Amino acid sequence: MEYLKILSMAKIKQPKERKFGKGVARCKRCGTSVGVIRKYKLYLCRRCINEVAPLMGFKVYN
Ligand SMILES: [Zn+2]
Repeated sequence: MEYLKILSMAKIKQPKERKFGKGVARCKRCGTSVGVIRKYKLYLCRRCINEVAPLMGFKVYN
């Protein structure tokens, strides 16, 4: 809760609550709604995919 308090004090813009659209998809790892990939039922944001992909068996090609 302390974290939320700091957030509101700093007046950081929080994402709008949505019932549909892009805001519905939340990253199940970090909770962000930005850059979440719903494809293949991943529900992970691009950053988390980057971190988790090798563990899930995805091969990373350079
Ligand atoms: Zn994430």
